[in-house]
Amino acid sequence: MAEKRDYYDILGVQKTASDDEIKQAYRKLAKKYHPDLNPDNREAEERFKEANEAYEVLSDKDKRAKYDQFGHAAFDPNAGFGGGGGFSGFSGSGFTGSFSGFDDILNSMFGGGFGGGRSGSDPNAPMRGDDMRYRMTITFEEAAFGCKKDIQYRREEECAACGGSGAKPGTGARTCPTCKGTGQVRVQQNSLFGMVQSTRPCDACGGTGKLIETPCERCKGKGRVMANMNVTVNIPAGIDDGQTLRVGGKGGMGHNGGPSGDLLVTVSVRSHKRFIREGYDIYLNLSIPMTIAVLGGEVKVPTLSGEVKYQIPEGTQSGTTFRLRGQGIQRLNSTAKGDLYVNVAVEIPKKLNDAQRESFEKFAASMGDEGVSIGGSSEGGVFKRKKGKKK
Ligand SMILES: [Zn+2]
Ligand SMILES: [Zn+2]
Repeated sequence: MAEKRDYYDILGVQKTASDDEIKQAYRKLAKKYHPDLNPDNREAEERFKEANEAYEVLSDKDKRAKYDQFGHAAFDPNAGFGGGGGFSGFSGSGFTGSFSGFDDILNSMFGGGFGGGRSGSDPNAPMRGDDMRYRMTITFEEAAFGCKKDIQYRREEECAACGGSGAKPGTGARTCPTCKGTGQVRVQQNSLFGMVQSTRPCDACGGTGKLIETPCERCKGKGRVMANMNVTVNIPAGIDDGQTLRVGGKGGMGHNGGPSGDLLVTVSVRSHKRFIREGYDIYLNLSIPMTIAVLGGEVKVPTLSGEVKYQIPEGTQSGTTFRLRGQGIQRLNSTAKGDLYVNVAVEIPKKLNDAQRESFEKFAASMGDEGVSIGGSSEGGVFKRKKGKKK
């Protein structure tokens, strides 16, 4: 792969350029190199794409920050999530095949008269298929430990009957006379920059450049049919709610031999009945008996991988949080784990039998004035105060 040019260089701005400067620089380049203004000019097309890509990154605060830190590697789908099997990289929207974001600006430049052909040139040139989106819900545990999910969906595929030509087998297609096979017709438009010659897909042939005499019966001349897809998605341990996996090549089929788009799988993670997740850490509220809080002792703490024993220290107050290191969620693409935070609530017995009551009364008496005075205070911390005295 050729060395990628620096995004700032592409736009011809300083690294310290303001958002406005970047926008200005981009508009200038977009105007200069726009394919509709440079028909059949590969060089201009490349420059235009390059400028678009640079602008998509530098106009987005987060992406720009990442780019400043990591350079092009920040957006390399092969970096970071290598070898995960089936997917490569996390990203809400890749650059590939996406003109979104520029459309707004271009529409404002060209008065909205923009549509259809992306390249503005050969309708028979290979074109990458569109990305497709799929949403799935997984459990808290599946997100924590990773899982494999089989999913089914439908996408267009080449019609096997006609080999994608759309013409009934044995018949052919002729060149569209309206557009002379280019798939595009030229139109004149008024724009911010004066009269602009622009192109639109040809209506007569639907932008294909060909007219089919006898359409294929199976695909009705479209060359494509809907087909069921079965894909196994590897969900990595540590994935969080709202994150998106990219499954390469499982999206919309490409045109004219172009590559398929990707399947973007966005994951919703169900909440857990006991644990609350925040990043890779999890939080748990746990009730402990008053006696253990006072005297100290062992309790069983539920974790994602089963119960573990934990020694509660003597004199533990309600509301104390203990951290169990490494009992959180595995980090993406790492074996490191977050922590489990256990917030304890001390359970006060609601009913006492006679013997217990007697013991408590004895205990209260042993506290003397101290017990009485503290018992009436807003702190309510009879054990806390005692502990404080012992130290
Ligand atoms: Zn067909
Ligand atoms: Zn045509």
